[in-house]
Amino acid sequence: MQADKPDLVLQITVDQLRADVIRRHFDRFGEGGFQYLVEHGTVYANARYRHANTMTAVGHATLATGGNSTQHGMVSNSWWDRERSEHVNCLQDEQSPFVDETTRTGRSPLRLTSSTFSDELILATGGASRSFGVSTKDRGAIILAGRGGKAYWYSTQTGRYTTTTWYHREHPEWVEAWNERDLAAAYAGQTWSLLADHESYAAVDRDDRPFEVPRGELGITFPHVMSDSTSGRYFSDLRYSPWADELTLSFTQALIEAEKPGQRGATDYLSVSFSATDYVGHAYGPYSLEAEDNLLRLDRVIAALLASVDQAVGLQNTLVVLSSDHGVQATPEYSGTHGFVGGRIGTAEMLGPINDLLSTYFETDERLIAAFSRPSLFLDLEALRRAGISRTHAEVALAREVVKLDGVRAAFTRTDLLEGNLPATALARSVAHAFHPQRSGDVYVVAEPFWFFGYDTQGDAATHGSHYPADAHVPLIFSGPGVPRTSVYRPVAPRDVAPTLSAYLGVLPPSGSVGEVLGEVVGEAKP
Ligand SMILES: [Zn+2]
Repeated sequence: MQADKPDLVLQITVDQLRADVIRRHFDRFGEGGFQYLVEHGTVYANARYRHANTMTAVGHATLATGGNSTQHGMVSNSWWDRERSEHVNCLQDEQSPFVDETTRTGRSPLRLTSSTFSDELILATGGASRSFGVSTKDRGAIILAGRGGKAYWYSTQTGRYTTTTWYHREHPEWVEAWNERDLAAAYAGQTWSLLADHESYAAVDRDDRPFEVPRGELGITFPHVMSDSTSGRYFSDLRYSPWADELTLSFTQALIEAEKPGQRGATDYLSVSFSATDYVGHAYGPYSLEAEDNLLRLDRVIAALLASVDQAVGLQNTLVVLSSDHGVQATPEYSGTHGFVGGRIGTAEMLGPINDLLSTYFETDERLIAAFSRPSLFLDLEALRRAGISRTHAEVALAREVVKLDGVRAAFTRTDLLEGNLPATALARSVAHAFHPQRSGDVYVVAEPFWFFGYDTQGDAATHGSHYPADAHVPLIFSGPGVPRTSVYRPVAPRDVAPTLSAYLGVLPPSGSVGEVLGEVVGEAKP
């Protein structure tokens, strides 16, 4: 049991980090990073998301709130808005513009329908506790910082860190000062080469593969050279390299120096979400040489972050929790070389044929499907009315047609999900956890393993979003005052993180929390 409350809760999230990866490469990490956490903390070796829609916003929201999509409202990174007839971003908020850009729609946590652990900490202390969120991605920063925190993220327009008027009217001085250094632009012409000896990599012969999708001039083989910083795509492409995490680290170190989290009496909360692993995994695939080298570099970045926190606050006064928002599946080409039949079906090539099948079935000229927003198909309710077809009839027909396609394992209708009319299977439960009555579509599509269904075929070598272990199994490690050094193989879930932090600090669980308290972390004899 911990003697006192910690000065700081440090939540580290690595975007797209699978649980098996840390274990497989453990001996190759340096001191102070993953090895420190594993050797000082409680490792939950069997942590698995309970929702089927393993996307970035969903995973971050589950870590933040202890809920599933049903509770926290994040059904994906974006979804189809029926009233506006357009895809909306999960954090889109016209009322909260960027403080330094006018070209993009603003961002805020307003669409998150649950409080977060950080919110509850602030509420419990009357605002004495503070919350900060940092990430390359807006959703990596905003969701965990909560409504009451301050969030900062990387701008693909400027290469600087930015925020919106939800948090600040203008950038704080220390943010301006960090931005003035223009660190992102300084990577122009730099080379990403291997950190260790080439022969030491498990992926030694997996560098040059035709299905890898490079960004800009980064190319698909080592050494990767960053292009000219004046090119229009430079700041966007930079994310597809370990340098994105170096920038996140540097910005976080500036935050620690300026805001002094954990050094003002009350317990503060600092969330850092590292995104490079996700970008690199998407571009090159999880078993690539690039992904392996990025992992070794991520370990160094985490070690540097822990060292900064140790210096400023003391790790003995800090509760650290590390997890991930989702994993990733192997590219169908890679699994194909080892005997698994898989494939890729893009949104456009899938939507046309299904619309045809449905129109033929109902003998109508109307196009009955309005949109596919992964993982859901949305019916066009106006077209259904014009054709005199009931929504439930159309759902059932659509679900029956879509499972006939290659790469589709199952489909669930909105009506069955609303009414709980589901088989008693783990898959059905995970789809129910992914469902939100107002935001989900009419038919939830479940792809076969090794298949990428309904995604942008040009964009990525690999992706995630399924309920399979590759996407759902993530690391979960706690380290800090009173947390024993042990490994736990009992099944747990990332939704247990927020209620566990709440129990540890003696504050309310978030409003949407349905997770369990992990007893090893909290200890015994708490009042
Ligand atoms: Zn991703």
